[in-house]
Amino acid sequence: MADRKGRTFEKPRVVVSRCLEFESCRYNGLMISSDVVKGLVPFVEFLPVCPEVEIGLGVPRPPIRVIRKGQGLRLVQPETKRDITIAMVRFAGEFLDSVGEVDGFILKSRSPSCGIKEVKVYPGPEAVSPAAKKSGFFGAAVIERFFFLPIEDEGRLTNFTIRENFLTRIFTFAAFRRVKASMRMRDLVAFQAENKFLLMAYNQKELRELGRIVANLDKKPIADVLYSYEDHLRSAFARAPRFTSNINVLMHALGFFSDELLAGEKAFFLDALEQYRTGRIPLSAVTAITRSWIVRFSTDYLVNQTFFEPYPAELVKITDSGKGRKL
Ligand code: SF4
Repeated sequence: MADRKGRTFEKPRVVVSRCLEFESCRYNGLMISSDVVKGLVPFVEFLPVCPEVEIGLGVPRPPIRVIRKGQGLRLVQPETKRDITIAMVRFAGEFLDSVGEVDGFILKSRSPSCGIKEVKVYPGPEAVSPAAKKSGFFGAAVIERFFFLPIEDEGRLTNFTIRENFLTRIFTFAAFRRVKASMRMRDLVAFQAENKFLLMAYNQKELRELGRIVANLDKKPIADVLYSYEDHLRSAFARAPRFTSNINVLMHALGFFSDELLAGEKAFFLDALEQYRTGRIPLSAVTAITRSWIVRFSTDYLVNQTFFEPYPAELVKITDSGKGRKL
């Protein structure tokens, strides 16, 4: 757990493709370097997996590919003429059945096994050019089973907007796992209160519904309340917040300090907000300004709002793929 003022972050449990920073298990005997994965190691409980090694393909090994056969897709190893579709589907099912509660996935981009999108599908084992792009076999199984969780590849996570959304979701879901394990209503009430601004940015409709569930006017047992809350929490985070929603929340927060700030400070903030609006800086750069005011003015109501620090500050990196705001 990493400390921040008055709060500890629960470590998210994240399944990761093992060739990303963990082991040289790629078909060519190499490992892939990922600054995002490396940076997350102290803050995340990683569960590395290499589906191709797990089904008995060695390292190094002849490459495999996805091909179209009739109406379906097959996973084949052209050099050995092996069809490993059944082995991979079976492994994916068994692994995902037994992995337990997880908060997200980081999978290797474009891999015929792990890829979540943009995986080349060839018309045949020997074809030179791909005919389409889909998910890899393991990636597709993950998406089908865990569609409500953040699932990204290391390539997409180089984009700061995608990364902020991913980190926000895994740390929020991890925090909720702790609430769930406690089975205490007062922990759920505190969770809802601390996430109010964050939920306001993500999904106002679900924020209201979650408030109704926590109020528990029907006096349901805590297990039922938590079950229903989790369902709506996942829906609330299903889509990244529109940047305009984030701006509304930040303007709402500005109202708490308005009387205390100098005109120049307000102008500086509004300028940062404009830079965020036009995609030149990430959300975390603007919330950092608000956080400094929360500390300076001891604004009790805001001090525990996760919106202002949804994940450990050490993970805030301004680096970006340069592909701008995309989700
Ligand atoms: S992409 Fe997946 S299957 Fe391929 S080496 Fe990496 S972990 Fe193994």
